[in-house]
Amino acid sequence: MNIQINEKRLLDTFLTLVKIDSESLNEGKVARYVAAEMKKRGCQVYVDKAGKKIGSTAQGNIIATLKGTRPGKAFFFVAHLDTVKPGNGIKPIVKNGRVTSDGTTVLGGDDKTGVALMMEIAQVLREQKLSYPTVQFIFTLNEETGMGGSKNMDYSKLKAKDGLILDNEALEELLVQGPAVCDFMVDITGVTAHAGVCPEKGISALEVAAKAISMMKIGRVDKDTVCNFGVVSGGQVTNAVMPKLTLLGEARSLDVKKLDKQVKHMKDCFAKAAKLFVKKVDGKTIRPIIDIKTPLRYGALNVPLSAPTVKLTLAAAKKYGVKMKAVPSGGGCDANVLCQHGMSAPNLGLGVQNCHTPQEYVDLKEFYKAAKIALDVLLNYK
Ligand SMILES: [Zn+2]
Repeated sequence: MNIQINEKRLLDTFLTLVKIDSESLNEGKVARYVAAEMKKRGCQVYVDKAGKKIGSTAQGNIIATLKGTRPGKAFFFVAHLDTVKPGNGIKPIVKNGRVTSDGTTVLGGDDKTGVALMMEIAQVLREQKLSYPTVQFIFTLNEETGMGGSKNMDYSKLKAKDGLILDNEALEELLVQGPAVCDFMVDITGVTAHAGVCPEKGISALEVAAKAISMMKIGRVDKDTVCNFGVVSGGQVTNAVMPKLTLLGEARSLDVKKLDKQVKHMKDCFAKAAKLFVKKVDGKTIRPIIDIKTPLRYGALNVPLSAPTVKLTLAAAKKYGVKMKAVPSGGGCDANVLCQHGMSAPNLGLGVQNCHTPQEYVDLKEFYKAAKIALDVLLNYK
């Protein structure tokens, strides 16, 4: 079947969308626009209450359901409505097969390409009277600064279990794995003392931290696991033994068991280091106190290569002459959160490059191919 995407209309929709300011948590205007447009396309539009919980100007995530023209399992698409900063007053420029910003902002191709693509697919399905299963188009809030939208989504409204995330960069790379991430917040309380007069009466929080980290597997731990401390703060003056120190870090792994092991190892290193600094001063025992919090930022994305969505996407890519490969990612996206809710979706690249910078651009050839591939996957999903 020769799939027809209206490329000009898809581009126009994209340009309209990027001109609507929607930095994270300011998605109100674009959300209202998209909800109205999806209604026009015959979708039943449900907006959940996630916006209030996370402090967005939008009411919530949009779940637009288009009833299928054939029976079978429902399918979903996901894209996020927010952009990173600087993302206000975007002036898109179309030139030589690319869309760029004017260089003062990001373009917002991440992820307005995905939003535009869903709007186009909904329109094509109806106007070409195609045979398709029920489709749920999911537009999330606040993906960029913590996935607050997908974390607070009303999952009771989602019937589809398989789908595609439309939020990756190069079309050649289909993301099927992403790491689970644990944040590390470590407060070390030592004992202060005059550094010039009686340093031996103190316990330096910095020395405790240094000792713990010197015992720790850090950086690249194994092929699936990495760990890093990126923020250190503590101390105010040079002539006092440092009384308190805060470390912020993270551990990531594609394998949840390996992540658990790494988190335990890191905690053990802090506990061991603390013990080494216990001492008696003037007949009294003093010791450092370490408080560690390790909340899970998001779980792992793991779509097996045997999943129908992966097979269908790779097959569709081949049809359109794209050498696509299923690859792991080092970062996270809405797909990780959906995965924790029993949904499964690889992340398709839409031809967006240099995301999160003013040099961001969309390669239109790739974007149009991605649109055809996404539609092809939906039409062949059984
Ligand atoms: Zn994105």
